[in-house]
Amino acid sequence: MTLWTFLAGHPAYFITLATVLGLLVGSFLNVVAYRLPIMLDRQWQREAQEVLGLPTTEHTRFNLSLPASHCPHCGHGIRAWENIPVISYLALRGRCSACKQPISARYPLVEVACALLSMTVAWHSGPGLEALAVLLLTWSLLALSLIDHDQQLLPDVLVLPTLWLGLMVNALGTLVPLHDALWGAVAGYLSLWTVYWVFKLITGKEGMGHGDFKLLALIGAWGGWQVLPVTLLLSSLVGVVAGLCLLRLRGQSVRTAIPFGPYLAIAGWIAVLWGDEIVTFYLQQFGM
Ligand SMILES: [Zn+2]
Repeated sequence: MTLWTFLAGHPAYFITLATVLGLLVGSFLNVVAYRLPIMLDRQWQREAQEVLGLPTTEHTRFNLSLPASHCPHCGHGIRAWENIPVISYLALRGRCSACKQPISARYPLVEVACALLSMTVAWHSGPGLEALAVLLLTWSLLALSLIDHDQQLLPDVLVLPTLWLGLMVNALGTLVPLHDALWGAVAGYLSLWTVYWVFKLITGKEGMGHGDFKLLALIGAWGGWQVLPVTLLLSSLVGVVAGLCLLRLRGQSVRTAIPFGPYLAIAGWIAVLWGDEIVTFYLQQFGM
């Protein structure tokens, strides 16, 4: 019996496996969210210096694995046992083992969130190719949400491969017909592109970033054009509520830029998983 046939016959094991995997991936996404923007920033700086004919700034090697993780306060190198998702944080009582400075609670929270999201996907899709594909989508959206939240940036190096992957997954007939996925990507991009230009022509301001168009194209490529209205409606709803709460909490002005990416990602993820059910429920309310 292969592992796959075993998991196919035992969904509970499959869900447990996905949850543990989600915990480990969540730990890696913490690294990606912190390091990828720095890597991109250095790359852009180098390119700009080359174009301008300026001497390039030399940095020490910095990528997803180097330098090894260390405490930002005292530089203490994180040992293997201090790097176990959630467990290490609890064992260390949320403090660095060397200097006792607090470790951000965001690290274990992201790990737990990633585990719960992965568990939901495994439970929803069951053992098979669909679950594997949607897990990759989920992890990519989580990384994008964190980076957009921190940096107001949706890096192409994450968005575009995830978009292509959605089209490839649907070329295999996994979630929606390829035809729907293709027009989903096109309509997703064009709808927000149109909103952006109308807003810009009327107000002279930029209402959102170009990354948002590509992110909605990505969601369309995974869920088909049918999920776009639900995604836009949900993301605006969540965005407005969260935005108002943030403005109240932090006392920021209405002009403060709030990244739209995380709301699009959350709404898109829900729409890809439960879009059909949401639309059916909605139509039923109107007796259609
Ligand atoms: Zn320390």
